[in-house]
Amino acid sequence: MKIICIGRNYAAHVRELNNAMPDEPVIFIKPDTAVLRNNAPFFIPDFTQDVHHEIEVVVKIKKAGRAIPVQFAADYYDEITVGIDFTARDLQTRLKEKGLPWEKAKGFDHAAVIGKFIPKAGLDTGNLNFKLTNHGEAVQQGNTGMMLNSIDAIISHVSHYFTLKIGDLIFTGTPEGVGPVKAGDELKGFIGDQQLFRCGVR
Ligand code: MG
Repeated sequence: MKIICIGRNYAAHVRELNNAMPDEPVIFIKPDTAVLRNNAPFFIPDFTQDVHHEIEVVVKIKKAGRAIPVQFAADYYDEITVGIDFTARDLQTRLKEKGLPWEKAKGFDHAAVIGKFIPKAGLDTGNLNFKLTNHGEAVQQGNTGMMLNSIDAIISHVSHYFTLKIGDLIFTGTPEGVGPVKAGDELKGFIGDQQLFRCGVR
């Protein structure tokens, strides 16, 4: 199983980090050792002083495919959830300044929180509200209609570079409102009003 992540997929988030607006999807990969499931706590690693939360809609691939046309992309997933793309922002900034890959800042152990998957049937995947709360207060809110590249466009684009396999996960990018986490935070992820994960920060 591989975890493919999309960067800079919401304009307001691109602006908040003073990044350039991408002309094609920005892609990076997390290893399977990054997965954090079953509402397990997240322990802040010792190599960063500035871990940020990034709430994202996550898609689970249900059949193998490569070079998938956009119009068929919806056939390749039927479950979605939300997750957190934990990012060591201080480390990422140093790597970006040197033009180096981001993997250490985003692919470290337990940097990919994954919620409970729900069927996409009956949901309008192009108009889904999702949010992250901390101690019950909303800290990030998004709607999939604000994506620069839709879920189907992402699946198509990604599959032209990486063959998709059953069980692969795609993080579809974070909306604005990213920020640091600290020990004691109690994070919860929602699609609509449905809670799909909780994650205590330690
Ligand atoms: Mg992200």
